[in-house]
Amino acid sequence: MREYDVVVIGSGPAGLTAAIYATRGGFKTAVFAGLQHGGQLTTTTEVENFPGFKEPIMGPVLMSDMSAQAERLGAQILYEEITKVDLTPRPPHPFRLWSDEEVIQAKTVIIATGASAKTLKLPNESSLMGRGISTCATCDGFFFKGKKAAVVGGGDSAMEEASYLAKLCSEVFLIHRRPAFRASHTMIERVKNNPKIVLKTPYQVVDTVANQMGLTGVILQHETTGARENLTVDGLWMAIGHTPNSGIFREYLKTDENGYILVREGIKTEIPGVFAAGDIADHTYRQAITAAGMGCQAGMQAIRYLEALH
Ligand code: FAD
Ligand code: NAP
Repeated sequence: MREYDVVVIGSGPAGLTAAIYATRGGFKTAVFAGLQHGGQLTTTTEVENFPGFKEPIMGPVLMSDMSAQAERLGAQILYEEITKVDLTPRPPHPFRLWSDEEVIQAKTVIIATGASAKTLKLPNESSLMGRGISTCATCDGFFFKGKKAAVVGGGDSAMEEASYLAKLCSEVFLIHRRPAFRASHTMIERVKNNPKIVLKTPYQVVDTVANQMGLTGVILQHETTGARENLTVDGLWMAIGHTPNSGIFREYLKTDENGYILVREGIKTEIPGVFAAGDIADHTYRQAITAAGMGCQAGMQAIRYLEALH
């Protein structure tokens, strides 16, 4: 049976940073990479806001370097998915995790499984991701300076994305399927008072228009009349919520109503020795640097926990 001091579940910025700290602390550390080795940033092109790089760095390059760094320092990167866990707290006995049918033992567990943005599942959506369709305005809004943008959604994320894009773009259409928004009053007011933002309700985006370069527009359908119209935009941001990858942990750990693992002191779950870092526990910032920061905290707390066990 494989046994580790620290098992990190997830190989995005949170998981890999946690592994860098845990392994440098002298503890036997494994990273279970899951289906997306490197996490969400492997799906994007240029990353401009991760400190340390004077020029933009490609997301996949940043993540493969981060993975190589963790490996060089001694972490084992395992290309496996954790399918089941037993986080029953009975220290000093280890926690148990399963990769397929094989059981793995861990004295501490760092959960860094991230969250996945929900998307509209439009025709051609996957081929236009990163070529006009996005789920993160802070990440790539900059590349649409002076252009026309559309944001879909009626929650705080949509308001935030629209306000952010309005600082860069010539015009922003906020498209929502209902006349009423579920976002907070302040956020709605901010959007309504922004002369660059045009509200389009109640509409659904039902299709995309594109050329070889990428997105050139979207097809809207009015929710009550069914009438369709073509809206010319260069970028479409989907802000219709995120799904945290917390399913296998919910039996053991408390989550908020949206499924994000609840933490205190940044990264501690209610089970001593089990930590949660990055987008799995943070629906506010959802950035690579904040995920890495939480990974650092989780790695350091895992070290303290293990030192106290000995
Ligand atoms: P993730 O990166 O989501 O990684 C989760 C990891 O968990 C993956 O490796 C996955 O394989 C693994 N996993 C999940 N379930 C299991 C399991 N059961 N077993 C094992 N492993 C599992 N942020 C920025 O700061 N700057 C940007 O420019 C930027 N651009 C972005 C562009 C796009 C298109 C997207 C989608 C996001 C972008 N972000 C950006 C946000 C950033 O990518 C995330 O905030 C960050 O990746 C979160 O890191 P994480 O480690 O918490 O999770
Ligand atoms: P959310 O509140 O769940 O809102 C999702 C929005 O997307 C809703 O308006 C929903 O429409 C719409 N939507 C969902 N599925 C859709 C579909 N298939 N087609 C079209 N529209 C669809 O998600 P969120 O905005 O990401 O916010 C999540 C949480 O984070 C909230 O608690 C929010 O307050 C918080 N948050 C806070 C801040 C902040 O305080 N600064 C910023 C961002 C997020 P309906 O309304 O019709 O259901």
